[in-house]
Amino acid sequence: MNVIIGAGISGLSAGQALQGDFVILEKSAAAGGLSGQYRAGGFAFDYGGHYFHFQDKPEIRRHVEAFRAFRGFRRNSKVFLQRRFIPYSLQYHLAGLPARQRHPILAEILAGAGGPPGQDLERFLLAHFGPTLVRLFFAPYLEKFYGRPLTAMIAGMDKGSIPIPRKEDVLAGALRRRSCAEGYNPVFYYPSGALQAFIDDYSRPLAGRIRCQEEVLAIEPARKQVITRTGSYRYDSLISTMPLKQLLGIMAPPPPFPRQRLRHLSTLVVNAVLARRRRRFHWLYLPEAHFPFYRVGYYPAAGTVSVYLEKTIAADPPLDSRQARREALSTLRETGMIAGAEELLFLDLKRIPVSYIVFDSDWPRLVPAALAYLRSRDIHSIGRYGSWNYTSMADDIRQARETAGRLNGA
Ligand SMILES: Cc1cc2nc3c(=O)[nH]c(=O)nc-3n(C[C@H](O)[C@H](O)[C@H](O)COP(=O)(O)OP(=O)(O)OC[C@H]3O[C@@H](n4cnc5c(N)ncnc54)[C@H](O)[C@@H]3O)c2cc1C
Repeated sequence: MNVIIGAGISGLSAGQALQGDFVILEKSAAAGGLSGQYRAGGFAFDYGGHYFHFQDKPEIRRHVEAFRAFRGFRRNSKVFLQRRFIPYSLQYHLAGLPARQRHPILAEILAGAGGPPGQDLERFLLAHFGPTLVRLFFAPYLEKFYGRPLTAMIAGMDKGSIPIPRKEDVLAGALRRRSCAEGYNPVFYYPSGALQAFIDDYSRPLAGRIRCQEEVLAIEPARKQVITRTGSYRYDSLISTMPLKQLLGIMAPPPPFPRQRLRHLSTLVVNAVLARRRRRFHWLYLPEAHFPFYRVGYYPAAGTVSVYLEKTIAADPPLDSRQARREALSTLRETGMIAGAEELLFLDLKRIPVSYIVFDSDWPRLVPAALAYLRSRDIHSIGRYGSWNYTSMADDIRQARETAGRLNGA
């Protein structure tokens, strides 16, 4: 018998592919995890994941479309800078900047920017984009997002979300405005009938295997046993999708890793329903410091006009809903997404305690070793939070299917 911890997209995908006897233990009342939706005020909002990125994964697209049809959206994301809406990624669209900024950025990139890329994120960005673009966009945006200086993070962990354009593309984008969506995920996909409808279809064949409200409290690798509130389960192999930091914390005896050095962000998502749609982009990136949010996005579902505003927060303090409302109102007004407060019809706050992994210099020292240690004890820690990495839902599905395939083979 195998045990899967978590019925998010990773646990469900492992379950879809795993043969033989297994159970999925889920602490919440329903499947979906951060790939699901919740309801508030009669509206449905995504928890975390929104669009699927199938770009280099046609087999994953075929797999999920066997459960539900998906609709493709050609990416139309913008950066809001100095009251201008400039297509994202900025490095491909310098024509959107005033000449006094465009010219030095172009000169620095064409001259080969700042020398060989270094280990930390700041040196990497300087090497590819030069100081002017780093000061204007990358540093304010990423430091707001990560809540720490670029020098405190390592480069190369973004999985292509900071595309490095060819010089001819930078030049073409500096000479004229283009509407193309290059680089990272040019097309987004969303399930017909919204995310929860897909999760419902996807989890249905596993209904008999999923035990909800069954939180795993402890793991004893020597006895190959997990302990829950209601009992215990023996396993041959364990697939865990709970955050790696928490997993290491419930193992008995504790593994030899300083898990407190695994760092992550917490996110506050402000979900809002608006009276009408005034803007046409999907995502709007907000690098400027006076916006508390780093990103705003429209939900793709037809009918209601809903948006989400995301900001990085400290993990613990209670949420201040009045402040969040004030911040949402001023952000939506300043970006022209509403004309006045009367257009904000409904608002709900959702805290995501573990949302993004921080790639600092401890990551390469700790994470691969911890995952290998667990594997040697037949514990496969997978998914975005299980593998403590930056992945999309499509990446998670692929990794889960590959893990299950290896266990089937074994
Ligand atoms: C703000 C935000 C926006 C995002 N946007 C996108 C996007 O647009 N596109 C995209 O592809 N991805 C996006 N992501 C990432 C995406 O949400 C994740 O990659 C994906 O949801 C991870 O799925 P998972 O199953 O690995 O983990 P989770 O969804 O976290 O599932 C883990 C499950 O384990 C359960 N669990 C935890 N601990 C225990 C325990 N002790 N016992 C039993 N069960 C337990 C949890 O309840 C949960 O159901 C976003 C993430 C965030 C935070």
